[in-house]
Amino acid sequence: MSIATVNPTTGETLVNFAPLTDAEIESKLALAESAFKTYKKTDFTTRSNWLNQAATILERDKAKFAEIMTLEMGKPLKSAIAEVEKCALVCRFYSEKAPEFLADVSVSTDASSSYVSYQPLGIILAVMPWNFPFWQVFRFAAPALMAGNVGILKHASNVPQCALAIEAIIREAGFPQGVFQTLLIGASQVGAIVEDERVKAATLTGSEPAGASLASIAGKSLKKTVLELGGSDPFIVLETADLEAAVKIGTTARMLNNGQSCIAAKRFIVSESIGDQFEQALIAQFKALKVGDPMKEDTDIGPLATPAILKDIEQQVQKAIDHGAKVLVGGESIESNGNFYPPTILTNIEPDSDVAKEEFFGPVAMVFRVKNLDEAIDLANSTSFGLGASGWTNNSEEQEKLIKELEAGAVFINGLVKSDPRLPFGGIKRSGYGRELSIQGIQEFVNIKTVWIK
Ligand code: NAP
Repeated sequence: MSIATVNPTTGETLVNFAPLTDAEIESKLALAESAFKTYKKTDFTTRSNWLNQAATILERDKAKFAEIMTLEMGKPLKSAIAEVEKCALVCRFYSEKAPEFLADVSVSTDASSSYVSYQPLGIILAVMPWNFPFWQVFRFAAPALMAGNVGILKHASNVPQCALAIEAIIREAGFPQGVFQTLLIGASQVGAIVEDERVKAATLTGSEPAGASLASIAGKSLKKTVLELGGSDPFIVLETADLEAAVKIGTTARMLNNGQSCIAAKRFIVSESIGDQFEQALIAQFKALKVGDPMKEDTDIGPLATPAILKDIEQQVQKAIDHGAKVLVGGESIESNGNFYPPTILTNIEPDSDVAKEEFFGPVAMVFRVKNLDEAIDLANSTSFGLGASGWTNNSEEQEKLIKELEAGAVFINGLVKSDPRLPFGGIKRSGYGRELSIQGIQEFVNIKTVWIK
């Protein structure tokens, strides 16, 4: 995939970037290595000040950064602005909390003093996707830099201007040169960087094949990885749920980011007794969404990020129809030069079919009906994913059972699955491993050093 800005609304290629040469990569790695030697000795107050300054820059220029995102990957401008604000929030969060999260922990032993000390590892590689092109990077960079690591970013090939803007923000905030660098490279250039001795660990957010490839190379080099991969989150609606809220929030949970979110509600699993009511209300909500130019204030759904994603969605929906699925709304691409696909609802999908277990990375909802809670949980757990899950019920026993039995990295009751700097984020099963955000996130890429003094 070439590194370029291609406007998904019009199909027009706006800028092409040449991938870095091996010599250019070498000089960036050398710079990162030398930056780490001094950066690791800076104190929390200094790093906090720089990270707060990054937050200030994000807030100051949020309209500009949001426009770059919308231009490169098509999310509605209003959600792009919200994304920049959330990046500022995560910077301020770690700026305040890192000293507490990484403070020495005293432990009583046979020593006169023994404790746990958290120390930086060195260069951490972040391979990031295009769907939240600012947020995914800042949720890695804020804790990594506060911990004293230095970062190198391989961003998705369709968001190069976002990647360059993020590097510029971090530099303007005051972080020394080389502490955070963007490497404009293709996926095939990642392996050699993972193997490089100076690179100590890697994190990847993206698809299963990309995660498996990076992790296997890192595994051979005995390097730690954190993987945030795909999901097909269930959204379970039971009889006692507030149906109106479930339908409204379920629509948001499915449609956020033009349907291209790892934690989107992708499978609606609904009690049979409220099935008709739920479906009718969901159809009404989906029909009311405005598809169009993501730069416009009143647009709800913009184009998919690339023609390849559009093609994938078209093929998946067709496959579902071929296997007996019924289309309640949408189901056919919109004629245009951009990558537009309408909000779509599929029912009548065989729960054991391949389609039911796939991730739909676009504005397509699958609706299933179940007889009882056990059936709902079995269906929810029947995919290889385990990222998030949302359960809707006002019965406390049902809530308890959902919390205990859903196979997911996060369970949200009567709310949509979302990331929050205060809470850990990540998956189980083929959705990946490791955690980002909160105290768990900042402790992923540190040397947890045991200290024992006689
Ligand atoms: P992708 O193709 O895996 O791309 C993600 C990143 O990995 C890009 O920077 C890409 O570079 C790079 N990459 C691709 N193949 C690689 C390889 N073999 N080795 C090293 N790097 C490689 O993912 P996508 O299809 O764009 O993103 C959608 C997927 O990401 C969905 O499954 C979604 O659920 C998941 N996702 C997960 C989370 C989470 O937090 N769990 C968040 C967002 C998205 P190029 O662009 O150059 O190919």
